[in-house]
Amino acid sequence: MPGKIGFVSLGCPKALVDSEQILTRLRAEGYEVAPTYEEADLVVVNTCGFITPAVEESLDAIGEALRENGKVVVTGCLGARPEVIQARHPEVLEVTGPGEVDRVLEAVHRVLPPDENPFTALVPRGVKLTPRHYAYLKIAEGCNHRCSFCIIPKLRGRQRSRDAGEVLYEAYRLVSTGTKELLVIAQDTSAYGVDLQHRTSEFQGRAVRAHLTDLVTELAEMGAWVRLHYVYPYPHVADLVALMAEGKLLPYLDVPLQHASPRILRAMRRPGGPEAHLETIRAWREVCPELTIRSTFIVGFPGETEAEFELLLEFLAEARLDRVGAFTYSEVEGAEANALPGRVPEEVKAERLERLMALQAEISLEKNRKKIGQVLEVIVDEYGEEPGQVIGRTKGDAPGIDGRVYAMTDGTVKIGDIIRVKVTDASTYDLYGDAVGQVSWRPNVLMVQGA
Ligand code: SF4
Repeated sequence: MPGKIGFVSLGCPKALVDSEQILTRLRAEGYEVAPTYEEADLVVVNTCGFITPAVEESLDAIGEALRENGKVVVTGCLGARPEVIQARHPEVLEVTGPGEVDRVLEAVHRVLPPDENPFTALVPRGVKLTPRHYAYLKIAEGCNHRCSFCIIPKLRGRQRSRDAGEVLYEAYRLVSTGTKELLVIAQDTSAYGVDLQHRTSEFQGRAVRAHLTDLVTELAEMGAWVRLHYVYPYPHVADLVALMAEGKLLPYLDVPLQHASPRILRAMRRPGGPEAHLETIRAWREVCPELTIRSTFIVGFPGETEAEFELLLEFLAEARLDRVGAFTYSEVEGAEANALPGRVPEEVKAERLERLMALQAEISLEKNRKKIGQVLEVIVDEYGEEPGQVIGRTKGDAPGIDGRVYAMTDGTVKIGDIIRVKVTDASTYDLYGDAVGQVSWRPNVLMVQGA
């Protein structure tokens, strides 16, 4: 056994997928994963560099790993700015950027040479940091947009999609080993395959196109829940909503709109305005009435006036989105928006965020209350505190970001089961109810027993 590696994974689901790839490769070479700093021979820190607080959190995590262990390799989004890391922590062994799995491995090899014994270098199944019943499926890296508040295109480069065959084989392996929900991610999921000019690749003897509608149709064939994240509001999203109406994809759209004021959206270099957003949402709901729409917004963008903020509130009151995440604008080093005039004072940003969240809480509670009496399918993520209680999510809830369902069962339900729950009560974000049945799980793939 060549050594034990400690691993700290910060940031978004996309960074989590990078962590999984690094851990899979390390395990394939015989390294073990250490649960504590003391037990580790070396620590890899996968950082986030998106907004200033995330940069600070990453720098603190590197500092802690250095104090507690001493041998630290840094990777991830903040790694794209090595000068920031080296200025604060010159003693780190290596700084690598996002997605640079090979360079992380090389850095580990320098300190802990890999085992040459071929019998220990067996290739294990991929390491997953999520529970077995759901998995993130990264279909592309990088982004071709230039939103003025965002440095992801600078950190991660232009979009590079994976071939459809490669993604589908990975999904097949996941579903055949027990994954029931695939969470499709990329910086801009809806632009998948554009950089490949939608070229075809092989999957199970057939040619499949690197195009999102083709890809998700193939994924749906496998029989798992398929959830789309980070969908940019392009017109062709309507095609995906049609697939949702057909039951091929989960009726869930995570579509960041960021604002409603046309002037602010232009300054953000984002499309749309209140009427355009509302029209699009109306059209989507017409095609798929059970659609859950999740969106994120930034308040306190440079130059945002009270009137522009109120326009956003009016839009939200009218759109009645199902899930809303909101953030105060935070200066990201290197983002163009920092140079825009009219910095909004922190206390004004905080007050606007509070008003927005208060409005959305009312909408969310009203929407949740309407579910009382309904029977919903729920995937079970964990056991609750009370005997027989489980905690899960409906098709309209993504793990980690949306609401949860607390359900009482007869005690035979296991994590990963899909059950039917009759909703008896609702709070602003969560639902409560009783299990009334189990949904049988028959994926359309060959199952690997004991996986
Ligand atoms: S689409 Fe997303 S990742 Fe791309 S630049 Fe805009 S905010 Fe950043």
